[in-house]
Amino acid sequence: MTENIKKVAVFTSGGDSPGMNAAIRSVVRTCAYKNIECVAIYRGYQGMIDGDFKQMNARSVNNIINKGGTILKSARCEEFRTEKGRKKAYDQLKKEGIDAFVVIGGNGSFAGAVKFNREYDFPVMGIPGTIDNDILGTSFTIGFDTAINTVVDVIDKIRDTASSHNRLFFVEVMGRDVGHIALNAGVGAGAEEILIPEQNLGLERLLDSLKRSKKSGKSSSIVIVAEGDKIGKNVFELKEYVEEHLPIYDVRVSVLGHMQRGGNPTCFDRVLASRMGVRAVEALIEGKSNYMVGIRDNKLVLTPIEEAIKAHTEIDMELLRVSDIMTT
Ligand code: ATP
Repeated sequence: MTENIKKVAVFTSGGDSPGMNAAIRSVVRTCAYKNIECVAIYRGYQGMIDGDFKQMNARSVNNIINKGGTILKSARCEEFRTEKGRKKAYDQLKKEGIDAFVVIGGNGSFAGAVKFNREYDFPVMGIPGTIDNDILGTSFTIGFDTAINTVVDVIDKIRDTASSHNRLFFVEVMGRDVGHIALNAGVGAGAEEILIPEQNLGLERLLDSLKRSKKSGKSSSIVIVAEGDKIGKNVFELKEYVEEHLPIYDVRVSVLGHMQRGGNPTCFDRVLASRMGVRAVEALIEGKSNYMVGIRDNKLVLTPIEEAIKAHTEIDMELLRVSDIMTT
């Protein structure tokens, strides 16, 4: 244990995700438990530069574990990408007497933390908060479970209409670079096809599959399309293409958009966030820095942040196989 960490800052950065509040709560309460001061920074790196700080205690985080979004607000901050901006941030942290920070966010937020740590030898710890589940070094990011449950809920509702009217629905879900949301929610909601960035299904195969599905007696179909799917057409273009080539189908499109980011976190995300928050503060107290807290095989693990941001996580090939079998 080091005596050096007496005051820890916590903030959220990048896109918000459900469960971030549970992570903030956990960091604040762990600090209180360990008799360390805790300061919240509002609006991510922008708030750090502006000195938008608030002293926290265990009671400051009452009644937030169940809330989506982030009570500390999140922001994108161009200034932090510059040396001058990071110097301003460092000066503010020093002025406030902060010894270390915990950043809850995604890849970009971690890239900023790594730079800051290198330049000022300032202790930093990352907690992965993003619905995309795209960060190396953890099987789950905070918010992913809530997001896939939200998507499954919505698709269940869409299916009611699809089957009542014998329609084909293209449902676009988030996932520019990775198809974790599409694949997991697709399997969970029983989608007929799942189009993801990692796999180029091809238009012909999509048409074949839809034809087969119709022939086999299916009255309705749901196709999940990740934003970044490789087929090269957006959902509206896909609708036009299918209507042109398969006029038997009455096609509709639903773009889920930001609703996937909101809502009360699931129990899984709340528990995950609580565990990660505790580990983040404890790791700082142990004198560790520049790590991201992750979970693998239900054990909390620390991965150097540099490793975590090197690449996106890969799609689960076993789940892809399951999905192929389920869509026959
Ligand atoms: P999401 O997964 O939701 O996109 P994110 O953390 O990846 O979350 P970004 O917008 O990429 O979100 O990054 C958040 C902030 O982190 C940026 O606005 C910027 O202030 C800082 N940041 C990102 N990349 C860098 C970098 N290379 N150097 C310094 N700061 C960075």
